[in-house]
Amino acid sequence: MSLASPPSHVYAIPLRTRFRGLTVREGVLLHGDAGWGEFSPFWDYDVAESAAWWRAAREAADGGWPAPVRTQIPVNVTVPAVDAATARRLVLGSGGCRTAKVKVAEPGQSVDDEVARLEAVREALGADGAVRIDANGAWDVETAVARLRVLDRAAGGLEYAEQPVPTVADLAAVRRRTHVPIAADESIRRAEDPLAVVRADAADVVVLKVQPLGGVRACVRLAEQVGLPVVVSSALETSVGLAAGVALAAALPELPYACGLATAQLLTRDVVADPLLPVDGAIPVRRPAPDAASLAAAAAPPPDDARWRERLAAVATVVA
Ligand SMILES: [Mg+2]
Repeated sequence: MSLASPPSHVYAIPLRTRFRGLTVREGVLLHGDAGWGEFSPFWDYDVAESAAWWRAAREAADGGWPAPVRTQIPVNVTVPAVDAATARRLVLGSGGCRTAKVKVAEPGQSVDDEVARLEAVREALGADGAVRIDANGAWDVETAVARLRVLDRAAGGLEYAEQPVPTVADLAAVRRRTHVPIAADESIRRAEDPLAVVRADAADVVVLKVQPLGGVRACVRLAEQVGLPVVVSSALETSVGLAAGVALAAALPELPYACGLATAQLLTRDVVADPLLPVDGAIPVRRPAPDAASLAAAAAPPPDDARWRERLAAVATVVA
């Protein structure tokens, strides 16, 4: 790091359970006049795609966020592709979350695994909880329509299904053939044109994530253009990155659904002493700052540190 570079820290934090094929979450924390920002694109995002993540980190560090209109963000517990007993334990240990998001369509798992997981989640939540699923675009249209019928029954009613199929056209096709509301996630955050979902009548709900969409203010503008209910979700960040999601959820005029921001629970440690964890099913709107001891304990090994600094420099060059 040259003397001219602002302070930054590369972190590497093991996950409690494998999630989206990951066992360790890594990224860079940047400090600026406005506070700390997180740059942590997954490795399948190339340099050009990572530019949005960089803008989100710089906004947090240099510019800050719009004013909040609420003080608490209701959040969901995220249940990875785990067995039924683990799913139950996650819901019961979630800090009072009344909504659960359950991962489905995991390679190597059967519909029976999914049914067992959803039944366990419903039992743990009780009748008045909300259960949603996320397939990360893994099904085709026919599979999605058939699977939604089975899983809707297993869950005792699904709140919505997130990205059951990969494309906007497929989402629209599934939506015409199921009563389960459809949420678009990848079709928003990895799309050339996030508004294609709206034009195609492909979703009832959109999921917005601050880093891949280029920052809190960019997401507020996008939410206005989309005109559908928004669920703010994390990209599995530390509490530094989560604070940006909390700021977005706090700034939106309407917030009808629980947000996917309770993911600090999936990390074995954090970079702040007081992580953004739910209390009674909601995260208070605040912005915890990293402390030296937490940063040191989460520091990435030297080869990873070097790899991330190279990546950050490459993306910064592209943006400049
Ligand atoms: Mg998703």
